[in-house]
Amino acid sequence: MKILKTYLLLLLLLTPAMASAQVPEIPDPNLNDIAMVFPHPDHGAVIVYNPTICQQIGAACGFFRAHEYGHVVLGHTLLHPSAYPAVREAQADEWAAANGRPNEILAAYYLFLNGGSSENWQVYGHPQQRAERLRLFAIQYGTWIGP
Ligand SMILES: [Zn+2]
Repeated sequence: MKILKTYLLLLLLLTPAMASAQVPEIPDPNLNDIAMVFPHPDHGAVIVYNPTICQQIGAACGFFRAHEYGHVVLGHTLLHPSAYPAVREAQADEWAAANGRPNEILAAYYLFLNGGSSENWQVYGHPQQRAERLRLFAIQYGTWIGP
């Protein structure tokens, strides 16, 4: 049993993409954000999302969950979102642009374009700048289906 556990741990360490597939997603209507990632003793990390906000923003919610996966896969230290340096937020957006669903990326693009993004502009960039950055990443990775 211990050998199996060690093997599984090695497997998780060697395949970050697989590890991300095991990150549970937990709805929490009281979460004061669209989605956040938290350290978890068993799963490594859990992604918590606000199902009420997600219902309002539709497909864009998938982009935010992919963004949080990006933080996990890229091995970013799991901190409160406001504590992430701007460069890591851009990296998580890039990861989500490369690996997310095109329709969710497009929905997030329009959300940003219309000013819907974190109020913490110093970290995430001005919403319109974040929209344009997302568009350029998506074009680069072949996931862009918008104008
Ligand atoms: Zn982030």
